[in-house]
Amino acid sequence: MTNKVTSSELLRVYVGVGCNLGERERNIVIASEAINALPGCSNCVISSVYETEPLGPADQPHYLNAVIGFDCALEAHVLLKQLQQIETDQLRVRTGERWGPRTLDLDILLYGAEQISTEYLSVPHPGIAVRSFVLVPLLEIAPDITIPGLGAAEDLLAECPKFGISVHTAKA
Ligand code: ATP
Ligand code: MG
Ligand code: MG
Repeated sequence: MTNKVTSSELLRVYVGVGCNLGERERNIVIASEAINALPGCSNCVISSVYETEPLGPADQPHYLNAVIGFDCALEAHVLLKQLQQIETDQLRVRTGERWGPRTLDLDILLYGAEQISTEYLSVPHPGIAVRSFVLVPLLEIAPDITIPGLGAAEDLLAECPKFGISVHTAKA
């Protein structure tokens, strides 16, 4: 493991949320509540919810995407396990199909300014620079954010391929 974060340290963490099955909007609300209820996690903020065209197989429903930011005292791999449990609790079925339809996907986009590369976890998330459905909501709640190793998120968005993306539910 590459980081030594202990429960006494709080990092700002950003998680990308995606879903295209079930009650999509409700799934996102439940996910943000579940994250805020995790031990050591607090001050949860959620972006607007965006409707986007699917990445990968096109014969699946459109996605809702959002980004959740929160203060986190959990070690990164512990957080990943907790997020995977939230996915499972929301009936995510892992079929093995890459980027296939799902009730909930929770990806760690940023873990403070840390760069992590292990068998289980890559942070910043490897897709961050080429996914407008991640960069747009991320910039909404963290306008000045820099992606470690890649630069300003705003600059990355300017260069990013544009997926079909529109606001579904504006931020409260
Ligand atoms: P993508 O990561 O391209 O968005 P996906 O979210 O559909 O694809 P999953 O099936 O949710 O992929 O996750 C596959 C594996 O990715 C997980 O088992 C996890 O160990 C690994 N993984 C690596 N880095 C991350 C990260 N930053 N956040 C979440 N999972 C990650
Ligand atoms: Mg994903
Ligand atoms: Mg995932």
